[in-house]
Amino acid sequence: MIESKNPYTGEVIEKFKELTKPEIDKALENADGRFKKWRKTSFKERADLMLKAAAELKKNKKEYARDISVEMGKPISQAISEIEKCAWVCEYYAEKAEKHLSSKTIKTDASKSYVSYEPIGVVLAVMPWNYPFWQVFRFAAPALMAGNIGILKHASNVMRSANNIQKVFERAGFPDACFQNLVIGSSKIEAIIKDPRVKAVTLTGSRPAGSAVASTAGGEIKKSVLELGGSNALVVFKDADLEESVKTCVQARFQNTGQSCIAGKRLILHESIADEFIDEFVRQVRELKSGDPLDEDTFIGTLAREDLAKDLEKQIQDSVKAGAKIILGGKRDRAYLEPTVLTNVTSEMSMFQEETFGPAIGVTTFKKDQEAIDLVNLSDFGLGVSIFTSDMDFAEKIVPEFEDGAVFVNELVKSDPRLPFGGTKISGYGRELSADGIQEFVNKKTVYFK
Ligand code: NAP
Repeated sequence: MIESKNPYTGEVIEKFKELTKPEIDKALENADGRFKKWRKTSFKERADLMLKAAAELKKNKKEYARDISVEMGKPISQAISEIEKCAWVCEYYAEKAEKHLSSKTIKTDASKSYVSYEPIGVVLAVMPWNYPFWQVFRFAAPALMAGNIGILKHASNVMRSANNIQKVFERAGFPDACFQNLVIGSSKIEAIIKDPRVKAVTLTGSRPAGSAVASTAGGEIKKSVLELGGSNALVVFKDADLEESVKTCVQARFQNTGQSCIAGKRLILHESIADEFIDEFVRQVRELKSGDPLDEDTFIGTLAREDLAKDLEKQIQDSVKAGAKIILGGKRDRAYLEPTVLTNVTSEMSMFQEETFGPAIGVTTFKKDQEAIDLVNLSDFGLGVSIFTSDMDFAEKIVPEFEDGAVFVNELVKSDPRLPFGGTKISGYGRELSADGIQEFVNKKTVYFK
C-alpha cells in the first residue's frame, strides 16, 4: 500500500493499492497502442485538447490545490498559483508546439534537405512531491503536444495529486492512455525503463534517484533528462538596491516553505552591506506567517514529511557545531521547522555544501567580487544563481563566469514556459520548457533529396 499522509495533522488521508505486474503491462500496452494513433493527430487537434486541460485546471483549481495542501503541506494560496501556472504551460505549448517543431530547411548540395521533429513514443516521467502538479505538467504539456505519450511514476507521498493529474487529462477529453498515472513504488521503475515499449525517461528529483534511473536508461541506450537538486546562491554586491534585494531574497528562499530545487539556499553578501542587509532580512522573515496550510494567509506551511524536517534540522545543527550562528529560528515541531537564518557560514559547512530543502538559509560574506564568483562556483550543484547589483555592465561582464544553468540579475531564479530550464554539474542535464524542452524527446530526423 502507498499512503498519503497530511504532514500538518499527521493523519493518513488515503491509501493506494499498488498496480500488479499484469496491470503495469496492460498500462504499457495501452500507452503503446495509443501512440500509434496519437502520433498521427494534427497539432490543431492536440492544441484543442491541451486548451481544454488548461480550462479544466482553472475551473477546478481550488479542488486540486486543496489536495496538494493536505498531501504535502503547501500553503493553499501557493498551491492555487501552482495550478494556474500549469494552465499557463498548457496554453503556451498549445500555441507554440507547432512552431517549435516545424521542419527546418538546411541548404546543402541536395535538391532539398531539412530536419523534421517527430515523436518517439511512450516517455516515462519520474517526479517529486515538491510541486506535485507543476513538475508533471511541464513534462506532460510538451510531451503530448509533440505527439508522445506520457506515463507517470509520481512520488509516493502525493499519489492523490498524481491521480488528479490523470483526471485533468481525462476531463479535458484526451483519448484513453494518452497520459496515465501508475500507482507504483520506485522498485518497479527499472523494469519499466527496460520495457521496449518505453522509449525515454525524464526524472526530477534527488541525485541518487537520478543516478539510478539514468544508469538503467543508459544501459538500454535510451534518452534521459535529469532535473536534480540545487544549491543556488543569492549574491548581493555592495551597489545593490537593498530594499528590493532583501524582498526578493526572502521570496527566493522561503516560498514553497523552502522546498524548491531553484530556491536561493546560500546567501552571499558583500561584507560592507552585510549587517544592514541581515537586519532587514531577519525582520521580513519574522513577518512570514506560519500556520495551517489550508489558511489563505499562511505563507510557511510544514515540510512535506517529518523525516525531511529532521534532515534539515541536522544540517543546521552540524553547521552550528562547525561554527555557524543561528540568529533566527532553528526549532522543529514534527514536520514544521521555524524559518531559520544562520550567519558565519563557511564553505566547509553542511549549510553551504549540501542542498538544504526547507526554510533555512546560511549567510556567507565576501570582500572581493572574484571571491563571490568563486564561492558560487564552489558548489557541486549548478542549477542557477541570482546576482544583485545596480551596474548592468558589471552584471553582463560576470555572467559568463558562472557555471550554472541560469543566471538571474536582480531577480530570483524562476521557471517560465518561454525559457529553457535545467542545470549543470550534479544538478542534471537536458532542458525543460521552451523550444529546447519540447525538442528533448523527439527524433530530429535528417531528410535529404538528391
Ligand atoms: P526523490 O526522493 O529523488 O524522489 C523523486 C522521484 O524519484 C520519486 O518519484 C521517487 O519515488 C523516485 N525515486 C526515489 N528513489 C529512486 C530510485 N532509487 N530509483 C528510481 N526512482 C526513485 O526526490 P524528492 O525527495 O521527491 O524531491 C526532492 C529532490 O528533488 C530535491 O533534491 C530537489 O532539489 C529535487 N528537485 C529538482 C527539481 C529540478 O527541476 N531540478 C525540481 C524539484 C525538485 P518514491 O517517492 O516512491 O521514492
